[in-house]
Amino acid sequence: MDTLQKLDLLGEGAQADLACGSCGEGQKRVRDDVGRWIYPAVRPDGKTIRMLKVLQTNACEKNCYYCATRCGRAQPRTTFQPDELARVFDEIHRARLAEAIFISSGVVGGGTRTMERMIATAELLRGKYAFRGYLHLKLMPGAEAAAIERALQLADRVSVNLEAPSSEYLAKLSPTKRYAEELLAPLQLARRMIETNPALHRKTMTTQFVVGAADESDREIVATTARLYRDLALARVYFSAFQPVENTPLENHAPTPLLREHRLYQTDFLLRQYGFTFDDLIFDAAGNLPTESDPKTVWAINHPEAFPVELNRASREELLRVPGIGPRSAARILCARRTRRFRTIEQLARLGADERRAAPFVLLDGRMPPHQLALPV
Ligand code: SF4
Repeated sequence: MDTLQKLDLLGEGAQADLACGSCGEGQKRVRDDVGRWIYPAVRPDGKTIRMLKVLQTNACEKNCYYCATRCGRAQPRTTFQPDELARVFDEIHRARLAEAIFISSGVVGGGTRTMERMIATAELLRGKYAFRGYLHLKLMPGAEAAAIERALQLADRVSVNLEAPSSEYLAKLSPTKRYAEELLAPLQLARRMIETNPALHRKTMTTQFVVGAADESDREIVATTARLYRDLALARVYFSAFQPVENTPLENHAPTPLLREHRLYQTDFLLRQYGFTFDDLIFDAAGNLPTESDPKTVWAINHPEAFPVELNRASREELLRVPGIGPRSAARILCARRTRRFRTIEQLARLGADERRAAPFVLLDGRMPPHQLALPV
């Protein structure tokens, strides 16, 4: 198998992983031999970069029920040796096709042995090829402390995909992965290393959930997400709507609607950027986020005592509770208020807020702006 054929197989194998911050299948990518596996991705500082997503190997000794790479599933298998993958990426980088790389892997010989090959690749990139760009390494299930520490030294970001909100739900997705010992423990260890070693302070961590495959509720996913932000200071949690893969045990399980994934991302933003806590969030009787409206609008409708908010006096916290006003438009409102008063809803629109959604919840100089009932979004 030549290098491009390997890149095809190992790039495809990495496609489902969103924990690297890549924008996913729907985003525009370069459609040539190499560019197919280069994704727009968002760096921790908010800058969008082009990232090669690739597996070190698509051989795997685990048999997660949802995964195309699971052992025993008929598909061509291949492996990049460290020098081969480092050289391929160096060529891609020099050709200015990508400025970042995400390396994951199937598990072969346990987590630590699998990581040895990934770490060797990273060492070649940082050493022989003097690559100073963005590197994201996946921590393998059950990886030991020395491998985790070396990964943190080499990479800008590390991640472990928890896949499910608890060990009970993980058991429905994977018969061989142990939630606390193999998945959570490496994240906890990495967090301790980041906190205690000043040389690692800038390193960040992420995780990903497969949504819907274990029939878990949104409440359970969001509760675990909130705990991960609080206890492990994760930079991001990613959500991947389950889509069944042929010839896997879950091939007949219903796919998860993308709207569910979207509502989870909206909720995640409320937790990270809008000052919401888990207790603020509203779920339906089944423990899921309502689909007919975004979670912030649902909160606003259920808290009439908090509205209307006078735009000329409201604090940042109050503004952030208004549907249609985000962190950026709230900052602009506070800044604009120093020199003028808000009298028309058009002034709000000019600052980047969604005035149609905000109108039912605000006052302008004591007056409610004209509005129609907002359509669900
Ligand atoms: S460990 Fe599980 S999810 Fe990861 S590649 Fe192997 S089978 Fe797939």
